[in-house]
Amino acid sequence: MKIVFLGPPGSGKGTYSSRLVPKLGIPHISTGDLFRENIKNETALGKKVKEIIDAGKLVPDEVTAEMLKERIEKPDAKKGFILDGFPRTMSQVEALDKLTKIDIVINLILPDHILIKKIAARRQCRKCGDIYNLADINEDGIHMPPLLPKVEGKCDKCGGEIYQRDDDKEEIVMSRLDVYKKQTAPLIEYYRGKNLLKDVPVVGGPDIMVPNIIKVLETISS
Ligand code: AMP
Repeated sequence: MKIVFLGPPGSGKGTYSSRLVPKLGIPHISTGDLFRENIKNETALGKKVKEIIDAGKLVPDEVTAEMLKERIEKPDAKKGFILDGFPRTMSQVEALDKLTKIDIVINLILPDHILIKKIAARRQCRKCGDIYNLADINEDGIHMPPLLPKVEGKCDKCGGEIYQRDDDKEEIVMSRLDVYKKQTAPLIEYYRGKNLLKDVPVVGGPDIMVPNIIKVLETISS
């Protein structure tokens, strides 16, 4: 199955995608993680995109689409994948349409004031990218308990260091939400028009949301 996750920064795309991997047996492809990996390894691509990402802006479409193409052409993605953070512009939609046919688009919905709290409290493993969250959200019918590592500061999966992304800092977050609304939100109507979109309100943590998302995926696989 070829799945796209849409939704603003902080809506849970990465968290839910990574938890769906063992259940669906397809890879999680996050363009944000791929860029961060390149930045960490100081590759030519990493050097080119670091400033853009730190400023909360979008990397140019050609650069991102080329990186994505290389990744989804790898053998592990032949039978399907979960795309997180791509496409983000109409030009990226066109690039993706040329490469493959998407089966379903999950549109995660969460109000801005909760996104802002969640992003400020998000932490990530520097080594494997696993995501944690310090926020305890219980308002407006949304209950998301904190997702803490078992040992403070260390990733449960690989023991790597847990850190806060530079672009998750307050001054950058508003600009990322703005970029989402202007450049990515229009994709919602494009995919709705293609009958591929499923709106999924985020009401809880992964224990609630992963089964919810699986039920939605079953509506197309059955
Ligand atoms: P994410 O981890 O998805 O929040 O992505 C982090 C940052 O990487 C974004 O704010 C962008 O600067 C860059 N990025 C990730 N995916 C894309 C994309 N599809 N197009 C352009 N820039 C991207």
